[in-house]
Amino acid sequence: MNEYDSELVAGLLEKQNYTRADSSADAQLILLNTCSVREHAEEKIHARLSNLKVFKDKDPEVKIGVLGCMAQNLKEAILESEPYVDIILGPDSYRRLPKLLSEPEIAPENAVDTKLSRMEVYDDLFPARREGINAWISIMRGCDKFCTFCIVPFTRGRERSRSIKSIVEEVEQIRDDGFREVTLLGQNVNSFQHEGQRFHELLLEVAKIEGIERIRYTSPHPQDFDDDLIKVHIENPKICNHIHFPLQAGSDPVLERMNRTYTKQHFLDLANKMREQIPGLAISTDMIVGFPGETEADFQETLDVMRQVQFDAAFTFKYSSRPGTKAAEFTDTVSEADKQDRLERMIKLQREHTLLRNRQHIGETQQVLVEKDSKKSEKQHQGRTRSNKIVIFDKAGEKPGDLVTVKIVDAQGITLFGHIVD
Ligand code: SF4
Repeated sequence: MNEYDSELVAGLLEKQNYTRADSSADAQLILLNTCSVREHAEEKIHARLSNLKVFKDKDPEVKIGVLGCMAQNLKEAILESEPYVDIILGPDSYRRLPKLLSEPEIAPENAVDTKLSRMEVYDDLFPARREGINAWISIMRGCDKFCTFCIVPFTRGRERSRSIKSIVEEVEQIRDDGFREVTLLGQNVNSFQHEGQRFHELLLEVAKIEGIERIRYTSPHPQDFDDDLIKVHIENPKICNHIHFPLQAGSDPVLERMNRTYTKQHFLDLANKMREQIPGLAISTDMIVGFPGETEADFQETLDVMRQVQFDAAFTFKYSSRPGTKAAEFTDTVSEADKQDRLERMIKLQREHTLLRNRQHIGETQQVLVEKDSKKSEKQHQGRTRSNKIVIFDKAGEKPGDLVTVKIVDAQGITLFGHIVD
Protein backbone atom coordinates (compact mmCIF):
# COMPACT_ATOMS: atom_id res chain seq x y z
CA MET A 1 0.00 0.00 0.00
CA ASN A 2 2.85 2.36 0.78
CA GLU A 3 4.53 1.57 -2.51
CA TYR A 4 1.31 2.48 -4.27
CA ASP A 5 0.95 5.69 -2.26
CA SER A 6 4.53 6.64 -3.12
CA GLU A 7 3.72 6.18 -6.81
CA LEU A 8 0.60 8.30 -6.31
CA VAL A 9 2.67 11.11 -4.79
CA ALA A 10 5.27 10.75 -7.57
CA GLY A 11 2.40 11.17 -10.07
CA LEU A 12 1.30 14.38 -8.31
CA LEU A 13 4.84 15.73 -8.37
CA GLU A 14 5.44 14.83 -12.02
CA LYS A 15 2.41 16.95 -12.88
CA GLN A 16 4.25 19.84 -11.22
CA ASN A 17 7.28 19.14 -13.46
CA TYR A 18 9.36 17.47 -10.77
CA THR A 19 11.66 14.74 -12.08
CA ARG A 20 13.15 11.80 -10.22
CA ALA A 21 16.61 12.31 -8.71
CA ASP A 22 19.03 9.41 -8.86
CA SER A 23 19.96 9.65 -5.19
CA SER A 24 19.14 11.59 -2.01
CA ALA A 25 22.35 13.59 -2.53
CA ASP A 26 20.99 14.90 -5.87
CA ALA A 27 17.47 15.65 -4.61
CA GLN A 28 15.88 18.99 -3.88
CA LEU A 29 12.94 17.29 -2.23
CA ILE A 30 13.11 14.12 -0.12
CA LEU A 31 9.87 12.52 1.04
CA LEU A 32 9.76 9.49 3.31
CA ASN A 33 6.56 7.52 3.04
CA THR A 34 6.20 5.84 6.39
CA CYS A 35 4.60 2.88 8.13
CA SER A 36 3.45 2.69 11.75
CA VAL A 37 2.34 -0.88 11.83
CA ARG A 38 5.31 -2.02 13.91
CA GLU A 39 7.59 -0.20 16.31
CA HIS A 40 10.64 -1.24 14.31
CA ALA A 41 9.39 0.57 11.18
CA GLU A 42 9.09 3.82 13.14
CA GLU A 43 12.58 3.45 14.61
CA LYS A 44 13.98 3.05 11.09
CA ILE A 45 12.38 6.31 9.97
CA HIS A 46 13.90 8.27 12.87
CA ALA A 47 17.33 6.86 11.96
CA ARG A 48 16.77 7.63 8.26
CA LEU A 49 15.71 11.20 9.01
CA SER A 50 18.85 11.88 11.00
CA ASN A 51 20.92 10.54 8.05
CA LEU A 52 19.08 12.83 5.64
CA LYS A 53 19.71 15.90 7.77
CA VAL A 54 23.21 16.18 6.31
CA PHE A 55 21.73 17.10 2.89
CA LYS A 56 19.71 19.86 4.48
CA ASP A 57 22.77 21.06 6.40
CA LYS A 58 24.68 21.29 3.11
CA ASP A 59 21.86 23.01 1.24
CA PRO A 60 19.09 24.65 3.30
CA GLU A 61 16.92 24.83 0.14
CA VAL A 62 16.48 21.03 0.27
CA LYS A 63 13.05 20.13 1.62
CA ILE A 64 12.40 17.03 3.71
CA GLY A 65 8.91 15.64 4.27
CA VAL A 66 7.35 12.76 6.19
CA LEU A 67 4.24 11.22 4.64
CA GLY A 68 1.92 8.39 5.52
CA CYS A 69 0.95 6.56 8.67
CA MET A 70 3.80 7.70 10.91
CA ALA A 71 3.07 11.31 9.97
CA GLN A 72 -0.53 10.66 10.95
CA ASN A 73 0.38 8.89 14.16
CA LEU A 74 3.12 11.13 15.52
CA LYS A 75 2.32 14.51 13.95
CA GLU A 76 4.01 17.37 15.81
CA ALA A 77 6.13 14.92 17.83
CA ILE A 78 8.23 14.49 14.66
CA LEU A 79 8.79 18.23 14.46
CA GLU A 80 9.98 18.21 18.08
CA SER A 81 12.46 15.37 17.60
CA GLU A 82 13.44 16.32 14.01
CA PRO A 83 12.81 20.08 13.72
CA TYR A 84 14.48 20.26 10.28
CA VAL A 85 11.52 18.36 8.73
CA ASP A 86 9.56 20.78 6.50
CA ILE A 87 6.37 18.85 5.71
CA ILE A 88 4.25 16.30 7.57
CA LEU A 89 1.26 14.94 5.63
CA GLY A 90 -1.01 12.07 6.64
CA PRO A 91 -2.33 9.50 4.11
CA ASP A 92 -5.38 11.61 3.20
CA SER A 93 -3.50 14.89 2.66
CA TYR A 94 -1.24 14.21 -0.31
CA ARG A 95 -3.17 16.64 -2.53
CA ARG A 96 -1.82 19.48 -0.36
CA LEU A 97 1.72 18.76 -1.51
CA PRO A 98 1.91 20.81 -4.78
CA LYS A 99 0.46 23.89 -3.10
CA LEU A 100 2.82 23.58 -0.12
CA LEU A 101 5.83 23.18 -2.39
CA SER A 102 4.87 26.21 -4.44
CA GLU A 103 5.20 28.43 -1.36
CA PRO A 104 8.59 30.14 -1.15
CA GLU A 105 8.71 29.47 2.56
CA ILE A 106 6.53 26.76 4.18
CA ALA A 107 4.85 28.41 7.16
CA PRO A 108 5.04 26.23 10.30
CA GLU A 109 1.24 26.38 10.71
CA ASN A 110 0.87 24.83 7.21
CA ALA A 111 3.61 22.24 7.60
CA VAL A 112 1.47 19.60 9.29
CA ASP A 113 -1.77 18.24 7.80
CA THR A 114 -3.02 14.95 9.12
CA LYS A 115 -6.77 15.40 8.82
CA LEU A 116 -8.44 12.10 7.97
CA SER A 117 -11.13 12.10 5.32
CA ARG A 118 -14.26 9.98 4.97
CA MET A 119 -14.20 10.52 1.20
CA GLU A 120 -10.63 10.70 -0.12
CA VAL A 121 -9.79 7.76 -2.41
CA TYR A 122 -7.60 9.68 -4.92
CA ASP A 123 -9.96 8.44 -7.63
CA ASP A 124 -8.78 10.93 -10.25
CA LEU A 125 -5.02 10.67 -9.61
CA PHE A 126 -2.98 8.09 -11.47
CA PRO A 127 0.34 7.00 -10.00
CA ALA A 128 3.70 7.39 -11.76
CA ARG A 129 4.94 3.82 -11.94
CA ARG A 130 8.29 2.44 -12.89
CA GLU A 131 8.31 -0.23 -15.58
CA GLY A 132 7.51 -3.73 -14.48
CA ILE A 133 5.29 -6.77 -14.80
CA ASN A 134 2.98 -6.23 -11.85
CA ALA A 135 1.20 -2.97 -11.05
CA TRP A 136 -0.38 -2.22 -7.67
CA ILE A 137 -3.77 -0.51 -7.67
CA SER A 138 -5.43 0.67 -4.49
CA ILE A 139 -9.17 0.03 -4.61
CA MET A 140 -10.17 1.08 -1.13
CA ARG A 141 -8.63 2.92 1.79
CA GLY A 142 -8.92 2.72 5.56
CA CYS A 143 -10.31 0.00 7.77
CA ASP A 144 -13.33 -0.36 10.06
CA LYS A 145 -12.32 -3.65 11.67
CA PHE A 146 -10.43 -2.30 14.70
CA CYS A 147 -8.32 -5.34 15.49
CA THR A 148 -7.03 -4.46 18.93
CA PHE A 149 -3.33 -4.70 17.97
CA CYS A 150 -3.58 -2.54 14.87
CA ILE A 151 -2.92 1.15 14.38
CA VAL A 152 -4.28 1.27 10.81
CA PRO A 153 -7.86 2.38 11.61
CA PHE A 154 -6.32 5.34 13.46
CA THR A 155 -3.72 6.26 10.85
CA ARG A 156 -5.70 5.55 7.68
CA GLY A 157 -9.21 6.29 8.88
CA ARG A 158 -12.59 4.87 7.91
CA GLU A 159 -13.15 2.39 5.12
CA ARG A 160 -14.12 3.85 1.72
CA SER A 161 -13.96 2.40 -1.78
CA ARG A 162 -13.20 3.75 -5.23
CA SER A 163 -15.69 3.41 -8.06
CA ILE A 164 -15.41 0.33 -10.27
CA LYS A 165 -15.32 2.68 -13.28
CA SER A 166 -12.18 4.49 -12.13
CA ILE A 167 -10.45 1.24 -11.12
CA VAL A 168 -11.19 -0.28 -14.54
CA GLU A 169 -9.80 2.85 -16.23
CA GLU A 170 -6.62 2.58 -14.20
CA VAL A 171 -6.24 -1.12 -15.06
CA GLU A 172 -6.68 -0.26 -18.76
CA GLN A 173 -3.99 2.38 -18.41
CA ILE A 174 -1.49 0.03 -16.80
CA ARG A 175 -2.28 -2.55 -19.52
CA ASP A 176 -1.48 0.12 -22.14
CA ASP A 177 1.76 0.86 -20.24
CA GLY A 178 2.81 -2.78 -20.69
CA PHE A 179 1.93 -4.36 -17.34
CA ARG A 180 0.54 -7.90 -17.54
CA GLU A 181 -0.46 -8.44 -13.93
CA VAL A 182 -2.39 -6.31 -11.46
CA THR A 183 -2.59 -6.60 -7.68
CA LEU A 184 -5.66 -4.91 -6.19
CA LEU A 185 -4.88 -3.45 -2.79
CA GLY A 186 -6.83 -2.61 0.30
CA GLN A 187 -6.28 -2.81 4.01
CA ASN A 188 -9.30 -5.02 3.98
CA VAL A 189 -9.66 -5.60 0.29
CA ASN A 190 -12.66 -7.91 0.24
CA SER A 191 -14.85 -5.47 2.13
CA PHE A 192 -14.76 -3.32 -1.04
CA GLN A 193 -18.20 -1.92 -1.68
CA HIS A 194 -19.20 0.86 -4.03
CA GLU A 195 -22.82 1.79 -4.73
CA GLY A 196 -23.97 -1.72 -3.87
CA GLN A 197 -21.30 -3.48 -5.95
CA ARG A 198 -19.03 -5.86 -4.07
CA PHE A 199 -15.51 -7.15 -4.39
CA HIS A 200 -16.24 -10.24 -6.49
CA GLU A 201 -18.13 -8.05 -8.97
CA LEU A 202 -15.11 -5.76 -9.26
CA LEU A 203 -12.89 -8.80 -9.93
CA LEU A 204 -15.20 -9.92 -12.73
CA GLU A 205 -15.05 -6.47 -14.35
CA VAL A 206 -11.25 -6.37 -14.15
CA ALA A 207 -11.04 -9.90 -15.57
CA LYS A 208 -12.85 -8.70 -18.73
CA ILE A 209 -9.94 -6.40 -19.61
CA GLU A 210 -7.98 -7.92 -22.47
CA GLY A 211 -4.19 -7.89 -22.12
CA ILE A 212 -4.26 -8.32 -18.34
CA GLU A 213 -3.22 -11.93 -17.78
CA ARG A 214 -3.28 -12.20 -14.02
CA ILE A 215 -5.23 -10.60 -11.19
CA ARG A 216 -4.13 -10.78 -7.57
CA TYR A 217 -5.36 -8.98 -4.46
CA THR A 218 -4.28 -8.39 -0.89
CA SER A 219 -5.22 -8.55 1.96
CA PRO A 220 -8.64 -10.06 2.51
CA HIS A 221 -10.19 -10.47 5.97
CA PRO A 222 -11.48 -13.97 6.77
CA GLN A 223 -14.76 -12.54 8.07
CA ASP A 224 -15.61 -11.05 4.65
CA PHE A 225 -14.57 -14.06 2.58
CA ASP A 226 -17.74 -15.48 1.03
CA ASP A 227 -18.83 -18.11 -1.50
CA ASP A 228 -19.18 -15.48 -4.26
CA LEU A 229 -15.48 -14.76 -3.98
CA ILE A 230 -14.54 -18.44 -4.02
CA LYS A 231 -16.75 -18.85 -7.11
CA VAL A 232 -14.92 -16.17 -9.13
CA HIS A 233 -11.64 -17.92 -8.34
CA ILE A 234 -13.04 -21.23 -9.61
CA GLU A 235 -14.64 -19.80 -12.74
CA ASN A 236 -12.11 -17.24 -13.88
CA PRO A 237 -8.57 -18.40 -14.66
CA LYS A 238 -7.21 -14.82 -14.70
CA ILE A 239 -7.91 -14.57 -10.97
CA CYS A 240 -4.86 -16.28 -9.56
CA ASN A 241 -5.04 -19.39 -7.42
CA HIS A 242 -3.21 -17.80 -4.50
CA ILE A 243 -5.03 -16.34 -1.51
CA HIS A 244 -3.32 -14.43 1.25
CA PHE A 245 -5.45 -15.35 4.25
CA PRO A 246 -4.29 -13.73 7.49
CA LEU A 247 -4.75 -16.01 10.51
CA GLN A 248 -2.91 -13.90 13.16
CA ALA A 249 -3.55 -16.50 15.90
CA GLY A 250 -5.14 -19.93 16.24
CA SER A 251 -6.54 -19.81 19.76
CA ASP A 252 -10.12 -18.62 20.20
CA PRO A 253 -9.48 -16.58 23.39
CA VAL A 254 -6.57 -14.79 21.66
CA LEU A 255 -8.59 -14.23 18.49
CA GLU A 256 -11.39 -12.78 20.58
CA ARG A 257 -9.02 -10.48 22.42
CA MET A 258 -7.57 -9.41 19.08
CA ASN A 259 -11.15 -8.64 17.92
CA ARG A 260 -10.56 -10.70 14.80
CA THR A 261 -14.28 -11.68 14.73
CA TYR A 262 -13.73 -15.30 13.63
CA THR A 263 -12.91 -18.50 15.44
CA LYS A 264 -10.25 -21.10 14.76
CA GLN A 265 -12.90 -23.46 13.38
CA HIS A 266 -14.38 -20.82 11.06
CA PHE A 267 -10.91 -20.12 9.66
CA LEU A 268 -10.19 -23.85 9.20
CA ASP A 269 -13.55 -24.48 7.51
CA LEU A 270 -12.94 -21.63 5.07
CA ALA A 271 -9.37 -22.70 4.30
CA ASN A 272 -10.55 -26.28 3.69
CA LYS A 273 -13.37 -25.11 1.45
CA MET A 274 -10.98 -22.94 -0.60
CA ARG A 275 -8.47 -25.77 -1.00
CA GLU A 276 -11.20 -28.24 -2.00
CA GLN A 277 -12.83 -25.95 -4.53
CA ILE A 278 -10.02 -23.90 -6.10
CA PRO A 279 -7.63 -26.10 -8.12
CA GLY A 280 -3.95 -25.85 -7.13
CA LEU A 281 -4.63 -23.12 -4.57
CA ALA A 282 -1.74 -21.72 -2.54
CA ILE A 283 -2.60 -20.10 0.80
CA SER A 284 -0.27 -17.71 2.57
CA THR A 285 -0.88 -16.03 5.89
CA ASP A 286 0.21 -13.53 8.55
CA MET A 287 0.79 -14.60 12.14
CA ILE A 288 1.60 -12.78 15.36
CA VAL A 289 3.27 -14.52 18.31
CA GLY A 290 3.29 -13.22 21.85
CA PHE A 291 0.07 -11.21 21.83
CA PRO A 292 -0.71 -10.15 25.44
CA GLY A 293 -2.08 -13.08 27.42
CA GLU A 294 -0.97 -15.71 24.87
CA THR A 295 -0.03 -18.87 26.79
CA GLU A 296 1.97 -21.83 25.52
CA ALA A 297 -1.35 -23.67 25.12
CA ASP A 298 -2.70 -20.79 22.98
CA PHE A 299 0.45 -20.88 20.88
CA GLN A 300 0.00 -24.64 20.38
CA GLU A 301 -3.46 -23.88 18.93
CA THR A 302 -1.79 -21.65 16.33
CA LEU A 303 0.68 -24.41 15.47
CA ASP A 304 -2.28 -26.78 15.20
CA VAL A 305 -3.91 -24.55 12.56
CA MET A 306 -0.59 -24.41 10.73
CA ARG A 307 -0.37 -28.20 10.71
CA GLN A 308 -3.94 -28.55 9.48
CA VAL A 309 -3.76 -25.91 6.72
CA GLN A 310 -0.09 -26.31 5.76
CA PHE A 311 0.27 -22.75 4.53
CA ASP A 312 2.41 -22.28 1.43
CA ALA A 313 4.04 -19.21 2.97
CA ALA A 314 3.72 -17.09 6.11
CA PHE A 315 4.74 -13.66 7.30
CA THR A 316 5.49 -14.14 10.98
CA PHE A 317 5.89 -11.37 13.55
CA LYS A 318 6.50 -10.88 17.24
CA TYR A 319 3.71 -8.77 18.72
CA SER A 320 4.70 -5.11 18.82
CA SER A 321 2.67 -2.80 21.07
CA ARG A 322 1.33 0.28 19.27
CA PRO A 323 0.44 3.15 21.62
CA GLY A 324 -3.16 4.26 21.11
CA THR A 325 -4.47 0.78 20.32
CA LYS A 326 -6.65 -1.22 22.71
CA ALA A 327 -4.06 -3.99 23.03
CA ALA A 328 -1.46 -1.49 24.24
CA GLU A 329 -3.54 -1.25 27.44
CA PHE A 330 -3.30 -4.99 28.16
CA THR A 331 -0.87 -5.57 31.01
CA ASP A 332 -0.39 -9.36 30.76
CA THR A 333 2.43 -9.05 28.25
CA VAL A 334 4.52 -11.98 27.04
CA SER A 335 8.25 -11.86 27.77
CA GLU A 336 10.64 -11.10 24.93
CA ALA A 337 12.33 -14.49 25.46
CA ASP A 338 9.02 -16.35 25.06
CA LYS A 339 8.13 -14.30 21.97
CA GLN A 340 11.48 -15.09 20.40
CA ASP A 341 11.24 -18.79 21.27
CA ARG A 342 7.72 -19.06 19.80
CA LEU A 343 8.71 -17.15 16.68
CA GLU A 344 11.64 -19.50 16.05
CA ARG A 345 9.47 -22.59 16.48
CA MET A 346 6.85 -21.09 14.18
CA ILE A 347 9.38 -20.25 11.47
CA LYS A 348 10.87 -23.76 11.66
CA LEU A 349 7.45 -25.37 11.18
CA GLN A 350 6.57 -23.00 8.35
CA ARG A 351 9.80 -23.79 6.52
CA GLU A 352 8.88 -27.48 6.63
CA HIS A 353 5.41 -26.76 5.28
CA THR A 354 6.67 -24.45 2.52
CA LEU A 355 9.08 -27.12 1.31
CA LEU A 356 6.44 -29.84 1.58
CA ARG A 357 3.93 -27.81 -0.43
CA ASN A 358 6.54 -26.81 -3.01
CA ARG A 359 7.75 -30.37 -3.47
CA GLN A 360 4.19 -31.35 -4.43
CA HIS A 361 4.73 -29.38 -7.66
CA ILE A 362 7.68 -31.47 -8.82
CA GLY A 363 6.73 -33.21 -12.06
CA GLU A 364 3.93 -30.72 -12.88
CA THR A 365 3.91 -28.31 -15.80
CA GLN A 366 3.03 -24.77 -14.76
CA GLN A 367 2.27 -21.58 -16.62
CA VAL A 368 4.94 -19.08 -15.56
CA LEU A 369 4.95 -15.31 -16.10
CA VAL A 370 8.54 -14.25 -16.78
CA GLU A 371 9.62 -11.41 -14.45
CA LYS A 372 13.37 -10.79 -14.64
CA ASP A 373 16.84 -12.33 -14.63
CA SER A 374 17.43 -14.76 -11.80
CA LYS A 375 19.59 -13.27 -9.02
CA LYS A 376 22.19 -16.02 -9.36
CA SER A 377 22.68 -16.27 -13.12
CA GLU A 378 21.92 -14.05 -16.08
CA LYS A 379 21.51 -17.22 -18.12
CA GLN A 380 18.36 -17.95 -16.14
CA HIS A 381 15.01 -16.23 -15.75
CA GLN A 382 12.87 -15.82 -12.66
CA GLY A 383 9.12 -16.02 -13.04
CA ARG A 384 6.04 -16.80 -11.03
CA THR A 385 3.32 -19.43 -11.21
CA ARG A 386 -0.33 -18.40 -10.93
CA SER A 387 -0.12 -19.64 -7.33
CA ASN A 388 2.65 -17.08 -6.68
CA LYS A 389 5.60 -19.48 -6.44
CA ILE A 390 8.96 -18.27 -7.69
CA VAL A 391 10.37 -20.45 -10.49
CA ILE A 392 13.93 -20.37 -11.85
CA PHE A 393 14.59 -21.80 -15.33
CA ASP A 394 17.16 -21.54 -18.15
CA LYS A 395 16.48 -18.80 -20.68
CA ALA A 396 15.26 -19.92 -24.09
CA GLY A 397 14.61 -16.67 -25.93
CA GLU A 398 11.61 -15.45 -23.88
CA LYS A 399 11.44 -11.97 -22.33
CA PRO A 400 9.92 -10.43 -19.19
CA GLY A 401 6.13 -10.33 -19.51
CA ASP A 402 5.94 -13.54 -21.59
CA LEU A 403 3.92 -16.50 -20.40
CA VAL A 404 5.80 -19.78 -20.74
CA THR A 405 5.13 -23.38 -19.80
CA VAL A 406 7.66 -24.77 -17.37
CA LYS A 407 8.13 -28.32 -16.12
CA ILE A 408 9.01 -28.24 -12.42
CA VAL A 409 11.91 -30.52 -11.59
CA ASP A 410 13.03 -29.44 -8.12
CA ALA A 411 12.03 -27.38 -5.07
CA GLN A 412 14.37 -25.86 -2.52
CA GLY A 413 13.26 -23.50 0.22
CA ILE A 414 10.77 -21.05 -1.27
CA THR A 415 11.95 -21.60 -4.86
CA LEU A 416 10.92 -24.00 -7.61
CA PHE A 417 13.28 -24.97 -10.42
CA GLY A 418 12.27 -26.11 -13.90
CA HIS A 419 12.77 -25.97 -17.62
CA ILE A 420 10.69 -24.60 -20.45
CA VAL A 421 8.65 -27.14 -22.40
CA ASP A 422 6.78 -26.53 -25.68
S1 SF4 B 1 -8.35 -5.79 9.40
FE1 SF4 B 1 -6.16 -5.45 9.02
S2 SF4 B 1 -5.92 -3.23 8.75
FE2 SF4 B 1 -7.94 -3.56 9.69
S3 SF4 B 1 -7.61 -3.33 11.91
FE3 SF4 B 1 -7.41 -5.54 11.43
S4 SF4 B 1 -5.21 -5.89 11.01
FE4 SF4 B 1 -5.60 -3.65 10.93
